[in-house]
Amino acid sequence: MLKLGCHLSSAKGFLAMGKEAVELGANTFQFFTRNPRGGAAKALDEADIAAFLAFAREQGLLPIVAHAPYTLNACAAKDNLRAFAKETMLDDLARLEHIPASLYVFHPGSHVGQGVEAGIALIVDMLNTVIRPGQATTVLLETMAGKGSEIGSSFEELRAIINRVDLNEYIGVCLDTCHVFDSGYDIVNDLEGVLEHFDAVIGLERLRAVHLNDSKNPFGSRKDRHECIGQGHIGQEAFARIINHPALRDLPFYLETPAGVPGYAAEISLLRQARNAG
Ligand code: FE
Ligand code: FE
Ligand code: ZN
Repeated sequence: MLKLGCHLSSAKGFLAMGKEAVELGANTFQFFTRNPRGGAAKALDEADIAAFLAFAREQGLLPIVAHAPYTLNACAAKDNLRAFAKETMLDDLARLEHIPASLYVFHPGSHVGQGVEAGIALIVDMLNTVIRPGQATTVLLETMAGKGSEIGSSFEELRAIINRVDLNEYIGVCLDTCHVFDSGYDIVNDLEGVLEHFDAVIGLERLRAVHLNDSKNPFGSRKDRHECIGQGHIGQEAFARIINHPALRDLPFYLETPAGVPGYAAEISLLRQARNAG
């Protein structure tokens, strides 16, 4: 069955997100672990989590994806920003121990002029500090558009990070369709070639989730502006090929388009119709 969800606001808690997902026709969802601009996370409500887990198991919503705040930059130039990134990720991962088998997506970071090599070293340093043996969560590096000094817009950069993380059995990748298209991987005309390259460099077994977003900008523009499915430069046919591809079809897919709630319901139903039987 197509595992398809969208990004939801966590303001009302986990059970509310689970119910909202089901109402939208989703069978998984993504949420921000805290305000996307950073700041403190709400206190954990254990009763809400217990009720959510019962509901999620009954509805088949697991695994879910937790997304780190955008402001988290493991390779910031300033010590205090790097310390914030570490503390935030440690705290997020501690909380996610309450939700079994979660996926935690983060943007590897922007090196802000320090250079790719220095940036990768700082990202690796953070991951080696926060990842603990036996943790329940898999940490996913998101493929990036390559805007500004973003690291992770090539599969090789993601591989360089994975290689240097000690406990890299807890590391995977989340492929964002808008971002890879923006960074110059032609998923419209050569999906097969892109996936072969991903497999050769990173290994498809590391690919654990897909963000489904169309792109407001043309191929290779490195701008990172999401568009609704079928309304951008990637186009509906390419999304049909993506969700049906044998190497991708069993992964969970998440919409992060400007459709928002309740526009997601229409996108979810469109994608479910585009899913081939079998
Ligand atoms: Fe993201
Ligand atoms: Fe994304
Ligand atoms: Zn994006």
